[in-house]
Amino acid sequence: MGKKKNIILENLLVTGYAAEGKSLAKHEGKVIFMENAVPGDIVTVRLVKNKKDWAEGQVIAITGYSEERILPFCSHFGICGGCQWQMLPYEKQLEYKQDQVLQSLKRIGKLELPDIKPILGSEKTIRYRNKLEYTFSNRRYLLKEELGNSEISVLQNAAGFHARGIFDKIVDVDTCWLQEEPTNEIRKEIKRWALEKEASFYDIQRHTGWLRNVQVRICRTGEIMVNIVFGELDESLQTALLDHIKNRFPQITTLLHTLNRKWNDSLNDLHPVVFHGNGYVIEKLEDFSFKIGPKSFFQTNTAQAERLYQTIRGLAALQGSETIYDLYCGTGSIGIFLSPLVKKIVGIELIAEAIADAKENALLNQIHHAAFFTGDVTAVCDDAFFAENGRPDLIVSDPPRAGMTEKLIAKLLEIAAEKIIYVSCNPATQARDLHLLSEKYQISAVQPVDMFPHTLHIENVTALFLKH
Ligand code: SAH
Repeated sequence: MGKKKNIILENLLVTGYAAEGKSLAKHEGKVIFMENAVPGDIVTVRLVKNKKDWAEGQVIAITGYSEERILPFCSHFGICGGCQWQMLPYEKQLEYKQDQVLQSLKRIGKLELPDIKPILGSEKTIRYRNKLEYTFSNRRYLLKEELGNSEISVLQNAAGFHARGIFDKIVDVDTCWLQEEPTNEIRKEIKRWALEKEASFYDIQRHTGWLRNVQVRICRTGEIMVNIVFGELDESLQTALLDHIKNRFPQITTLLHTLNRKWNDSLNDLHPVVFHGNGYVIEKLEDFSFKIGPKSFFQTNTAQAERLYQTIRGLAALQGSETIYDLYCGTGSIGIFLSPLVKKIVGIELIAEAIADAKENALLNQIHHAAFFTGDVTAVCDDAFFAENGRPDLIVSDPPRAGMTEKLIAKLLEIAAEKIIYVSCNPATQARDLHLLSEKYQISAVQPVDMFPHTLHIENVTALFLKH
Protein backbone atom coordinates (compact mmCIF):
# COMPACT_ATOMS: atom_id res chain seq x y z
CA MET A 1 0.00 0.00 0.00
CA GLY A 2 1.82 3.15 -1.18
CA LYS A 3 1.38 6.77 -0.20
CA LYS A 4 -0.90 7.51 -3.14
CA LYS A 5 -3.81 9.84 -2.64
CA ASN A 6 -7.35 8.52 -2.56
CA ILE A 7 -6.72 4.97 -1.48
CA ILE A 8 -9.94 3.05 -1.06
CA LEU A 9 -10.07 -0.26 0.75
CA GLU A 10 -13.05 -2.55 0.35
CA ASN A 11 -14.40 -5.44 2.37
CA LEU A 12 -12.56 -4.60 5.57
CA LEU A 13 -13.79 -6.46 8.62
CA VAL A 14 -13.85 -4.23 11.69
CA THR A 15 -12.29 -6.26 14.47
CA GLY A 16 -12.03 -4.11 17.56
CA TYR A 17 -12.39 -0.83 19.39
CA ALA A 18 -9.71 1.81 19.81
CA ALA A 19 -9.46 4.94 21.93
CA GLU A 20 -11.83 7.91 21.57
CA GLY A 21 -14.69 5.77 20.35
CA LYS A 22 -12.95 4.72 17.16
CA SER A 23 -12.84 1.21 15.87
CA LEU A 24 -10.18 -0.59 13.90
CA ALA A 25 -9.54 -3.05 11.12
CA LYS A 26 -6.33 -4.60 9.90
CA HIS A 27 -5.12 -4.55 6.32
CA GLU A 28 -1.82 -6.10 5.24
CA GLY A 29 -0.45 -5.75 8.75
CA LYS A 30 -1.48 -2.11 9.06
CA VAL A 31 -4.04 -0.90 11.60
CA ILE A 32 -6.78 1.27 10.11
CA PHE A 33 -8.70 3.49 12.56
CA MET A 34 -12.17 4.76 11.73
CA GLU A 35 -15.29 6.37 13.16
CA ASN A 36 -18.92 5.31 12.78
CA ALA A 37 -18.22 1.60 12.51
CA VAL A 38 -18.42 -1.15 15.12
CA PRO A 39 -16.71 -4.54 15.37
CA GLY A 40 -18.36 -7.01 13.04
CA ASP A 41 -19.16 -4.41 10.37
CA ILE A 42 -17.73 -4.89 6.89
CA VAL A 43 -16.78 -1.53 5.51
CA THR A 44 -15.34 0.37 2.60
CA VAL A 45 -13.01 3.15 3.73
CA ARG A 46 -11.14 5.98 2.08
CA LEU A 47 -7.82 6.62 3.76
CA VAL A 48 -7.51 10.17 5.03
CA LYS A 49 -4.19 9.63 6.78
CA ASN A 50 -1.64 6.99 5.84
CA LYS A 51 1.37 6.41 8.07
CA LYS A 52 3.88 3.61 8.21
CA ASP A 53 2.13 1.36 10.75
CA TRP A 54 -1.30 2.86 10.86
CA ALA A 55 -3.85 4.78 8.86
CA GLU A 56 -7.06 6.62 9.42
CA GLY A 57 -10.01 5.82 7.21
CA GLN A 58 -13.33 7.44 6.51
CA VAL A 59 -16.13 4.93 6.22
CA ILE A 60 -17.83 5.51 2.89
CA ALA A 61 -19.99 2.41 2.90
CA ILE A 62 -21.01 -0.34 5.27
CA THR A 63 -21.55 -3.45 3.19
CA GLY A 64 -22.22 -5.81 6.07
CA TYR A 65 -23.74 -4.87 9.39
CA SER A 66 -22.39 -6.20 12.67
CA GLU A 67 -24.68 -8.41 14.72
CA GLU A 68 -23.97 -6.13 17.65
CA ARG A 69 -25.81 -3.26 16.03
CA ILE A 70 -29.25 -2.18 17.10
CA LEU A 71 -31.58 0.37 15.58
CA PRO A 72 -30.85 3.85 17.01
CA PHE A 73 -33.91 5.20 18.83
CA CYS A 74 -33.45 8.81 17.78
CA SER A 75 -34.64 9.91 14.36
CA HIS A 76 -31.72 12.37 14.13
CA PHE A 77 -29.04 9.78 14.85
CA GLY A 78 -25.98 10.06 12.63
CA ILE A 79 -26.71 13.63 11.57
CA CYS A 80 -26.95 15.37 14.92
CA GLY A 81 -23.67 15.90 16.73
CA GLY A 82 -25.15 14.75 20.05
CA CYS A 83 -25.10 10.98 20.61
CA GLN A 84 -22.65 8.90 18.61
CA TRP A 85 -23.30 5.42 19.94
CA GLN A 86 -26.98 4.63 19.76
CA MET A 87 -26.23 1.85 17.30
CA LEU A 88 -24.79 -0.16 20.18
CA PRO A 89 -26.82 -1.64 23.03
CA TYR A 90 -26.06 0.17 26.30
CA GLU A 91 -24.45 -2.96 27.77
CA LYS A 92 -21.97 -3.00 24.87
CA GLN A 93 -21.19 0.68 25.34
CA LEU A 94 -20.35 -0.03 28.97
CA GLU A 95 -18.18 -3.01 28.04
CA TYR A 96 -16.23 -0.81 25.66
CA LYS A 97 -15.73 1.93 28.25
CA GLN A 98 -14.62 -0.58 30.87
CA ASP A 99 -12.11 -2.03 28.44
CA GLN A 100 -10.79 1.40 27.43
CA VAL A 101 -9.99 2.18 31.07
CA LEU A 102 -8.15 -1.13 31.44
CA GLN A 103 -6.23 -0.74 28.16
CA SER A 104 -5.16 2.83 28.93
CA LEU A 105 -3.96 2.03 32.42
CA LYS A 106 -2.09 -1.04 31.18
CA ARG A 107 -0.60 0.29 27.95
CA ILE A 108 0.02 3.96 28.67
CA GLY A 109 0.30 3.75 32.43
CA LYS A 110 2.17 0.43 32.54
CA LEU A 111 0.70 0.14 35.99
CA GLU A 112 0.26 -2.56 38.55
CA LEU A 113 -3.47 -2.75 38.84
CA PRO A 114 -6.03 -4.09 41.24
CA ASP A 115 -9.17 -5.53 39.65
CA ILE A 116 -11.07 -2.79 37.91
CA LYS A 117 -14.54 -2.59 39.40
CA PRO A 118 -17.42 -2.99 36.95
CA ILE A 119 -18.40 0.38 35.50
CA LEU A 120 -21.36 2.04 37.17
CA GLY A 121 -23.86 2.42 34.36
CA SER A 122 -26.45 5.16 34.33
CA GLU A 123 -29.91 3.99 35.37
CA LYS A 124 -31.39 6.56 33.05
CA THR A 125 -30.07 6.10 29.54
CA ILE A 126 -32.41 8.70 28.08
CA ARG A 127 -33.37 12.10 29.49
CA TYR A 128 -30.38 12.02 31.79
CA ARG A 129 -28.99 15.51 31.19
CA ASN A 130 -29.94 18.40 33.43
CA LYS A 131 -28.89 21.03 30.92
CA LEU A 132 -29.21 21.45 27.16
CA GLU A 133 -28.43 24.26 24.81
CA TYR A 134 -30.24 24.56 21.52
CA THR A 135 -29.25 26.76 18.60
CA PHE A 136 -31.54 28.74 16.31
CA SER A 137 -30.36 29.34 12.79
CA ASN A 138 -31.57 30.54 9.43
CA ARG A 139 -29.79 27.62 7.78
CA ARG A 140 -31.31 24.19 8.17
CA TYR A 141 -29.21 21.10 7.57
CA LEU A 142 -30.74 19.26 4.63
CA LEU A 143 -31.06 15.51 4.68
CA LYS A 144 -29.52 13.45 1.86
CA GLU A 145 -32.90 12.87 0.25
CA GLU A 146 -33.63 16.62 0.29
CA LEU A 147 -30.35 17.65 -1.31
CA GLY A 148 -31.21 16.96 -4.93
CA ASN A 149 -34.57 18.72 -4.67
CA SER A 150 -34.25 22.24 -6.06
CA GLU A 151 -37.48 23.28 -4.33
CA ILE A 152 -35.96 22.78 -0.89
CA SER A 153 -33.71 25.63 0.19
CA VAL A 154 -31.14 25.48 2.94
CA LEU A 155 -32.34 28.95 3.96
CA GLN A 156 -34.98 27.82 6.42
CA ASN A 157 -35.25 28.69 10.06
CA ALA A 158 -34.32 25.80 12.31
CA ALA A 159 -33.99 24.99 16.01
CA GLY A 160 -31.83 22.21 17.34
CA PHE A 161 -28.19 21.20 17.25
CA HIS A 162 -25.25 21.71 14.95
CA ALA A 163 -25.00 18.96 12.37
CA ARG A 164 -22.10 16.69 13.08
CA GLY A 165 -18.88 18.38 12.02
CA ILE A 166 -20.71 21.24 10.28
CA PHE A 167 -20.50 24.62 11.94
CA ASP A 168 -23.03 26.66 10.00
CA LYS A 169 -26.06 24.39 9.67
CA ILE A 170 -28.53 23.28 12.28
CA VAL A 171 -30.41 20.00 12.43
CA ASP A 172 -34.04 20.92 12.99
CA VAL A 173 -34.78 18.69 15.95
CA ASP A 174 -38.14 17.12 16.60
CA THR A 175 -37.58 15.13 19.80
CA CYS A 176 -34.27 15.20 21.61
CA TRP A 177 -34.07 12.34 24.13
CA LEU A 178 -31.37 13.85 26.31
CA GLN A 179 -33.50 15.85 28.75
CA GLU A 180 -36.89 15.60 30.44
CA GLU A 181 -39.81 17.58 29.12
CA PRO A 182 -40.68 20.38 28.77
CA THR A 183 -37.31 20.78 27.05
CA ASN A 184 -38.58 19.99 23.54
CA GLU A 185 -41.82 21.86 24.12
CA ILE A 186 -39.97 25.01 25.13
CA ARG A 187 -37.66 24.95 22.11
CA LYS A 188 -40.53 24.25 19.72
CA GLU A 189 -42.73 26.94 21.20
CA ILE A 190 -39.99 29.57 20.92
CA LYS A 191 -39.49 28.57 17.30
CA ARG A 192 -43.21 28.52 16.51
CA TRP A 193 -43.74 31.95 18.09
CA ALA A 194 -40.75 33.48 16.29
CA LEU A 195 -41.93 32.09 12.93
CA GLU A 196 -45.42 33.45 13.54
CA LYS A 197 -44.00 36.91 14.31
CA GLU A 198 -41.64 36.64 11.36
CA ALA A 199 -38.71 37.35 13.64
CA SER A 200 -35.22 36.71 12.29
CA PHE A 201 -33.16 33.67 13.24
CA TYR A 202 -29.41 34.01 13.71
CA ASP A 203 -27.26 33.87 10.57
CA ILE A 204 -23.92 32.43 11.57
CA GLN A 205 -22.20 33.43 8.31
CA ARG A 206 -23.34 37.05 8.23
CA HIS A 207 -23.44 37.38 12.01
CA THR A 208 -26.91 38.94 11.92
CA GLY A 209 -30.33 37.91 13.16
CA TRP A 210 -32.24 38.03 16.41
CA LEU A 211 -33.05 34.59 17.87
CA ARG A 212 -29.80 32.78 18.64
CA ASN A 213 -29.75 30.17 21.47
CA VAL A 214 -31.69 28.86 24.42
CA GLN A 215 -30.37 27.03 27.46
CA VAL A 216 -32.76 24.87 29.46
CA ARG A 217 -31.85 23.56 32.90
CA ILE A 218 -34.24 21.16 34.64
CA CYS A 219 -33.53 20.19 38.26
CA ARG A 220 -34.62 17.24 40.34
CA THR A 221 -36.01 19.80 42.77
CA GLY A 222 -38.54 20.73 40.08
CA GLU A 223 -36.95 24.09 39.42
CA ILE A 224 -36.46 25.05 35.79
CA MET A 225 -34.20 27.78 34.41
CA VAL A 226 -34.43 29.04 30.85
CA ASN A 227 -32.07 31.58 29.29
CA ILE A 228 -32.88 32.88 25.81
CA VAL A 229 -29.96 34.38 23.92
CA PHE A 230 -30.43 37.06 21.26
CA GLY A 231 -27.98 38.15 18.58
CA GLU A 232 -29.54 41.60 18.20
CA LEU A 233 -31.47 43.91 20.47
CA ASP A 234 -35.19 44.29 19.84
CA GLU A 235 -36.69 45.13 23.19
CA SER A 236 -40.36 44.99 22.34
CA LEU A 237 -40.09 41.69 20.48
CA GLN A 238 -37.92 40.30 23.26
CA THR A 239 -40.39 41.27 26.00
CA ALA A 240 -43.26 39.82 23.99
CA LEU A 241 -41.45 36.47 23.60
CA LEU A 242 -40.36 36.30 27.23
CA ASP A 243 -43.89 37.13 28.40
CA HIS A 244 -45.32 34.49 26.12
CA ILE A 245 -42.90 31.78 27.30
CA LYS A 246 -43.41 32.69 30.95
CA ASN A 247 -47.19 32.39 30.60
CA ARG A 248 -47.14 29.31 28.41
CA PHE A 249 -44.77 27.44 30.78
CA PRO A 250 -45.67 28.35 34.35
CA GLN A 251 -43.32 25.58 35.53
CA ILE A 252 -40.32 27.73 34.54
CA THR A 253 -39.11 29.09 37.88
CA THR A 254 -36.61 31.53 36.44
CA LEU A 255 -36.40 33.05 32.99
CA LEU A 256 -33.46 35.09 31.71
CA HIS A 257 -32.33 36.74 28.52
CA THR A 258 -28.86 37.47 27.25
CA LEU A 259 -27.57 39.64 24.44
CA ASN A 260 -24.75 38.02 22.50
CA ARG A 261 -23.14 40.12 19.80
CA LYS A 262 -19.97 38.03 19.71
CA TRP A 263 -19.06 35.50 17.05
CA ASN A 264 -18.94 32.59 19.51
CA ASP A 265 -21.74 31.17 21.67
CA SER A 266 -19.87 31.07 24.99
CA LEU A 267 -21.82 32.65 27.84
CA ASN A 268 -18.77 33.23 30.04
CA ASP A 269 -18.17 36.84 29.08
CA LEU A 270 -21.86 37.73 28.66
CA HIS A 271 -24.38 39.21 31.07
CA PRO A 272 -27.63 37.28 31.49
CA VAL A 273 -30.49 39.49 32.72
CA VAL A 274 -33.31 38.17 34.90
CA PHE A 275 -36.80 38.54 33.42
CA HIS A 276 -38.68 36.39 35.92
CA GLY A 277 -37.78 34.62 39.17
CA ASN A 278 -34.52 34.94 41.07
CA GLY A 279 -32.04 34.19 38.28
CA TYR A 280 -30.82 30.84 39.57
CA VAL A 281 -32.04 27.36 40.49
CA ILE A 282 -31.30 25.10 43.43
CA GLU A 283 -30.25 21.52 42.70
CA LYS A 284 -29.71 18.79 45.26
CA LEU A 285 -27.22 15.95 45.60
CA GLU A 286 -28.26 13.87 48.60
CA ASP A 287 -29.04 16.57 51.17
CA PHE A 288 -26.60 19.10 49.78
CA SER A 289 -27.95 22.11 47.93
CA PHE A 290 -26.26 23.81 45.03
CA LYS A 291 -27.12 27.19 43.65
CA ILE A 292 -26.74 27.19 39.88
CA GLY A 293 -26.84 30.37 37.83
CA PRO A 294 -26.94 30.60 34.02
CA LYS A 295 -23.12 30.63 33.86
CA SER A 296 -22.35 28.14 36.64
CA PHE A 297 -20.80 24.75 35.98
CA PHE A 298 -22.59 21.71 37.34
CA GLN A 299 -22.11 18.03 36.47
CA THR A 300 -24.53 17.33 33.63
CA ASN A 301 -25.98 14.00 34.74
CA THR A 302 -27.32 14.67 38.22
CA ALA A 303 -28.02 11.09 39.30
CA GLN A 304 -24.61 9.90 38.11
CA ALA A 305 -22.85 12.90 39.66
CA GLU A 306 -24.31 11.76 42.95
CA ARG A 307 -22.96 8.25 42.39
CA LEU A 308 -19.60 9.62 41.30
CA TYR A 309 -19.33 11.62 44.51
CA GLN A 310 -20.54 8.66 46.56
CA THR A 311 -17.79 6.60 44.92
CA ILE A 312 -15.21 9.23 45.89
CA ARG A 313 -16.57 9.30 49.43
CA GLY A 314 -16.45 5.50 49.68
CA LEU A 315 -12.86 5.35 48.45
CA ALA A 316 -11.79 8.23 50.69
CA ALA A 317 -12.81 6.32 53.87
CA LEU A 318 -12.59 9.50 55.92
CA GLN A 319 -12.30 9.61 59.72
CA GLY A 320 -13.23 13.24 60.35
CA SER A 321 -9.80 14.57 61.19
CA GLU A 322 -8.55 15.02 57.63
CA THR A 323 -7.53 18.07 55.68
CA ILE A 324 -8.55 17.53 52.08
CA TYR A 325 -7.54 19.42 48.95
CA ASP A 326 -10.11 19.56 46.18
CA LEU A 327 -8.05 20.38 43.05
CA TYR A 328 -9.91 21.67 39.97
CA CYS A 329 -12.88 22.06 42.29
CA GLY A 330 -15.26 23.87 39.91
CA THR A 331 -18.13 25.09 42.08
CA GLY A 332 -16.83 23.14 45.07
CA SER A 333 -19.26 20.23 44.83
CA ILE A 334 -16.86 17.37 45.70
CA GLY A 335 -15.50 19.15 48.77
CA ILE A 336 -18.97 20.11 49.89
CA PHE A 337 -20.15 16.53 49.46
CA LEU A 338 -17.30 15.27 51.67
CA SER A 339 -17.53 18.15 54.16
CA PRO A 340 -19.35 16.40 57.05
CA LEU A 341 -16.52 13.86 57.21
CA VAL A 342 -13.48 16.14 57.24
CA LYS A 343 -11.79 18.82 59.35
CA LYS A 344 -10.89 21.17 56.54
CA ILE A 345 -11.46 21.60 52.81
CA VAL A 346 -9.13 23.54 50.50
CA GLY A 347 -10.53 24.03 46.99
CA ILE A 348 -8.62 25.42 44.00
CA GLU A 349 -10.11 26.38 40.63
CA LEU A 350 -9.13 28.56 37.67
CA ILE A 351 -12.45 30.30 37.03
CA ALA A 352 -13.22 33.12 39.47
CA GLU A 353 -16.99 32.85 39.01
CA ALA A 354 -16.89 29.15 39.88
CA ILE A 355 -15.01 29.98 43.09
CA ALA A 356 -17.64 32.62 43.92
CA ASP A 357 -20.30 29.90 43.43
CA ALA A 358 -18.26 27.48 45.57
CA LYS A 359 -18.14 29.98 48.44
CA GLU A 360 -21.84 30.62 48.15
CA ASN A 361 -22.59 26.88 48.01
CA ALA A 362 -20.51 26.32 51.14
CA LEU A 363 -22.55 28.93 53.01
CA LEU A 364 -25.81 27.56 51.62
CA ASN A 365 -24.91 24.22 53.23
CA GLN A 366 -23.67 25.83 56.46
CA ILE A 367 -20.12 24.77 55.81
CA HIS A 368 -17.57 26.96 57.57
CA HIS A 369 -14.48 24.80 57.33
CA ALA A 370 -13.84 25.30 53.62
CA ALA A 371 -11.51 27.74 51.88
CA PHE A 372 -11.58 28.31 48.14
CA PHE A 373 -8.87 29.83 45.95
CA THR A 374 -8.89 31.11 42.39
CA GLY A 375 -5.93 30.27 40.19
CA ASP A 376 -4.08 27.73 38.10
CA VAL A 377 -3.64 24.66 40.32
CA THR A 378 -0.01 24.25 39.28
CA ALA A 379 0.83 27.85 40.13
CA VAL A 380 -1.19 27.96 43.36
CA CYS A 381 0.23 24.74 44.79
CA ASP A 382 3.62 25.96 45.97
CA ASP A 383 5.37 25.40 49.30
CA ALA A 384 4.03 28.61 50.81
CA PHE A 385 0.47 27.57 49.96
CA PHE A 386 0.82 24.16 51.62
CA ALA A 387 2.52 25.77 54.62
CA GLU A 388 -0.34 28.24 54.94
CA ASN A 389 -3.23 25.83 54.40
CA GLY A 390 -1.93 22.68 55.97
CA ARG A 391 -0.59 19.40 54.70
CA PRO A 392 -3.31 17.40 52.94
CA ASP A 393 -4.29 13.95 54.17
CA LEU A 394 -6.29 13.42 51.02
CA ILE A 395 -6.01 15.08 47.64
CA VAL A 396 -8.94 14.81 45.25
CA SER A 397 -7.97 15.87 41.75
CA ASP A 398 -10.50 16.25 38.94
CA PRO A 399 -8.60 17.90 36.05
CA PRO A 400 -9.95 18.69 32.57
CA ARG A 401 -9.13 16.38 29.63
CA ALA A 402 -5.51 17.52 29.42
CA GLY A 403 -4.84 16.01 32.85
CA MET A 404 -2.34 17.41 35.35
CA THR A 405 1.02 19.08 34.61
CA GLU A 406 4.32 17.37 35.35
CA LYS A 407 5.20 20.23 37.65
CA LEU A 408 2.05 19.69 39.71
CA ILE A 409 2.65 15.95 39.87
CA ALA A 410 6.22 16.56 41.06
CA LYS A 411 4.82 18.79 43.80
CA LEU A 412 2.22 16.20 44.81
CA LEU A 413 4.99 13.59 45.05
CA GLU A 414 6.93 15.94 47.29
CA ILE A 415 3.91 16.71 49.51
CA ALA A 416 3.19 12.98 49.76
CA ALA A 417 -0.37 12.99 51.04
CA GLU A 418 -1.43 9.62 52.41
CA LYS A 419 -4.14 9.29 49.77
CA ILE A 420 -4.99 10.67 46.33
CA ILE A 421 -8.25 10.21 44.49
CA TYR A 422 -7.88 10.99 40.82
CA VAL A 423 -11.12 11.62 38.94
CA SER A 424 -10.66 11.82 35.19
CA CYS A 425 -12.67 12.30 32.01
CA ASN A 426 -9.76 11.10 29.86
CA PRO A 427 -8.26 7.67 30.57
CA ALA A 428 -5.20 8.39 28.41
CA THR A 429 -3.97 11.45 30.31
CA GLN A 430 -4.98 9.84 33.57
CA ALA A 431 -2.83 6.81 32.77
CA ARG A 432 0.10 9.07 31.85
CA ASP A 433 -0.22 10.97 35.16
CA LEU A 434 -0.68 7.80 37.22
CA HIS A 435 2.50 6.44 35.72
CA LEU A 436 4.39 9.40 37.20
CA LEU A 437 2.55 9.15 40.51
CA SER A 438 3.36 5.43 40.76
CA GLU A 439 6.86 6.46 41.82
CA LYS A 440 5.41 6.85 45.32
CA TYR A 441 1.84 5.63 45.05
CA GLN A 442 0.09 2.30 44.71
CA ILE A 443 -3.30 2.07 43.02
CA SER A 444 -5.84 0.59 45.40
CA ALA A 445 -9.04 0.91 43.39
CA VAL A 446 -10.28 1.74 39.91
CA GLN A 447 -13.96 2.56 39.40
CA PRO A 448 -15.25 3.77 36.03
CA VAL A 449 -18.57 5.63 36.11
CA ASP A 450 -20.70 6.28 33.03
CA MET A 451 -21.87 9.88 33.03
CA PHE A 452 -22.94 10.09 29.38
CA PRO A 453 -24.84 7.14 27.84
CA HIS A 454 -24.70 6.92 24.02
CA THR A 455 -21.59 9.10 23.90
CA LEU A 456 -17.90 8.23 23.87
CA HIS A 457 -17.13 10.03 27.13
CA ILE A 458 -15.48 7.99 29.85
CA GLU A 459 -15.19 8.99 33.49
CA ASN A 460 -12.87 7.06 35.78
CA VAL A 461 -12.04 7.27 39.46
CA THR A 462 -8.75 5.92 40.79
CA ALA A 463 -7.70 5.74 44.43
CA LEU A 464 -4.00 5.79 45.32
CA PHE A 465 -2.24 5.35 48.60
CA LEU A 466 1.28 6.28 49.54
CA LYS A 467 3.75 3.40 49.52
CA HIS A 468 5.61 3.14 52.80
N1 SAH B 1 -14.71 18.88 40.35
C1 SAH B 1 -15.70 19.70 39.73
C2 SAH B 1 -15.37 20.21 38.32
C3 SAH B 1 -14.32 19.49 37.55
S1 SAH B 1 -14.22 20.02 35.87
C4 SAH B 1 -17.05 19.01 39.74
O1 SAH B 1 -17.13 17.79 39.97
O2 SAH B 1 -18.06 19.66 39.52
C5 SAH B 1 -12.58 20.63 35.82
C6 SAH B 1 -12.42 22.02 36.36
O3 SAH B 1 -11.05 22.40 36.26
C7 SAH B 1 -13.21 23.10 35.63
O4 SAH B 1 -14.00 23.78 36.55
C8 SAH B 1 -12.11 24.02 35.06
O5 SAH B 1 -12.50 25.39 35.08
C9 SAH B 1 -10.97 23.79 35.99
N2 SAH B 1 -9.62 24.04 35.47
C10 SAH B 1 -9.14 23.81 34.23
N3 SAH B 1 -7.83 24.07 34.17
C11 SAH B 1 -7.45 24.48 35.39
C12 SAH B 1 -6.21 24.88 35.97
N4 SAH B 1 -5.10 24.91 35.25
N5 SAH B 1 -6.19 25.22 37.27
C13 SAH B 1 -7.33 25.19 38.01
N6 SAH B 1 -8.52 24.80 37.53
C14 SAH B 1 -8.59 24.46 36.24
